[in-house]
Amino acid sequence: MVTVLFDIDGTLIQTGGAGQRAFAETFSSLFGIEKISSEVRFAGRSDRAIVEDLMEAHGVAVNSDNWNRFIEAMVPRLVEMLPLCQGTILPGVVELLDELEKSEHVATGLLTGNIAAGARAKLSHYQLWQRFAFGGYGDHCTNRNDIAAAALAAAQSHVAQHRTGNSQERSSDTELVFVIGDTPADVECARSIGACAIAVLTGGASREQLLATKPDLLLNDLTEVDDFLLQINAAVA
Ligand SMILES: [Mg+2]
Repeated sequence: MVTVLFDIDGTLIQTGGAGQRAFAETFSSLFGIEKISSEVRFAGRSDRAIVEDLMEAHGVAVNSDNWNRFIEAMVPRLVEMLPLCQGTILPGVVELLDELEKSEHVATGLLTGNIAAGARAKLSHYQLWQRFAFGGYGDHCTNRNDIAAAALAAAQSHVAQHRTGNSQERSSDTELVFVIGDTPADVECARSIGACAIAVLTGGASREQLLATKPDLLLNDLTEVDDFLLQINAAVA
């Protein structure tokens, strides 16, 4: 079994700033912060880590009560914001997902810093949510490597539940795992779970930044997936 784990922002879609605007408006309405700090990085990080850093930067108490208030207010705002922002599905994404769906030996999931409800809101807006049966999300973890471990565990449990009864498939047959993402953090978290890392230049990171992390493949966008698909086909043949 081959598992392919996709990052969301900058990899599958770009939301035209809907995510950051929803965060900023939620900080304004809940905590009275008119302008969120530009010092806090968003790309490649978990929502929980971003929000905790923003709370700290603005003197808001970092605790689970404030976190829960934040996500309850942020998700409906994100749903409202998505159609107002000029976002898009990135090149090659739909064609790649179509290709992966053809094989019963490929399991496709998410590995994202978004909270699960945020991931669902974003991907539902672009009619992509139903393409992913499982995932690791940024609700509870501040470290992306922990999200990668959660995504891998979700993949293993998905594969175990959907095993076709083929006696040649063992319970550990998720050993070939690919992580596709647009930031150095995606490549690093792929390594942390022993996965192959495919970096794509459709997000914020530069070629030099991504090359420095030594991904297995570096693609301009997801239309350039011939080598990747050859590797998958060789693995499931
Ligand atoms: Mg990303």
